[in-house]
Amino acid sequence: MITSAMKSEYYQALIDKKSEYEGIFYVGVKTTGVFCRPTCPARKPKFENCEFYETAKQALLASFRPCQRCRPLSHPNHVSELVQQLVNAVEENPEQRWKEDDFRKLSVDASTARRQFKKRFGMTFVEYARSRRMGIALKHIRAGNAVIDAQLSTGYESSSGFRDAFSRIMGAAPTLLGKHNILKASWLDTRLGPMIAIADEESLYLLEFVDRRGLEREVERLRQRTKSAIIPGYTEPIRSIEKELEGYFEGELMEFKTPLWMAGSPFQKEVWEQLQKIPPGQTSSYADVAAAIGKPSAYRAVAQANGANQLAIVIPCHRVINSNGDLGGYGGGLTRKRWLLNHEKESLSMETDETKEG
Ligand SMILES: [Zn+2]
Repeated sequence: MITSAMKSEYYQALIDKKSEYEGIFYVGVKTTGVFCRPTCPARKPKFENCEFYETAKQALLASFRPCQRCRPLSHPNHVSELVQQLVNAVEENPEQRWKEDDFRKLSVDASTARRQFKKRFGMTFVEYARSRRMGIALKHIRAGNAVIDAQLSTGYESSSGFRDAFSRIMGAAPTLLGKHNILKASWLDTRLGPMIAIADEESLYLLEFVDRRGLEREVERLRQRTKSAIIPGYTEPIRSIEKELEGYFEGELMEFKTPLWMAGSPFQKEVWEQLQKIPPGQTSSYADVAAAIGKPSAYRAVAQANGANQLAIVIPCHRVINSNGDLGGYGGGLTRKRWLLNHEKESLSMETDETKEG
């Protein structure tokens, strides 16, 4: 979480090109669409045009591309040719989905690429390319309708790259909406990273971290199941969940009241409803959940339904762990699962202390 005090500090560091801030923050420049390291030699942007990020990945997800001058994805003074070659290849075609075959075409060994990227940037090359791709498509969600309107009236038709990326992720392009239902999608910044919320005027359909693996497939399934087109925008349930999430991350709210629409089979819905009965700060095992719905032998199916949850945090699939006490899996990443569980425990114990004092 970057506070406004930190923003002023970072901006000063940027103006002074302070090298001790290398790796501490990255700055996205709204007017140019590039992101830089603190020491970039290029002319410095105005404060109001800066967005600050703690990691390069966050800057990529916010749709900024790496600056050509300070090369924010390279380690100072050193980046392997292989890494540079791949970063360049992504910029040539940022919407491409990378497969093993593509590495072969570039005469690059996929496992070497994975290792070198991980070492330099803390993410694999595929994650890098995906962050960049998602960033482009989500830029338009983040900015809301105004941008889409602008795209429609100006460069939209000619910008086929954007249109393709957007329709791959969100379904029909805005011009083809016609007889579809409409769901709106918004970008929500949270202290655990950006999330995407999809809702109609009545209920919330999807809430996920934008870097969740498989998010594009998930959105596609939702789109088909609801026969909807998904366009950027806000609805009442999105405003409601945004506010509730704020309270949740502040540790002030643990019970969500935003109406949910659960897109799943009757069995999945049964599991998801059961998950909502696990109190904050507590955990259950898959076997516990299976027993609670009266199907004690169905714990594998329960685990699958748990993984298919599309309403992160609100349907607390993060509260389900392995019977042996291990954390088990989490679509949004284990670090987040651990954080959420600790956060809930701490928030509740603070609440109890306050009650005692009061
Ligand atoms: Zn730069």
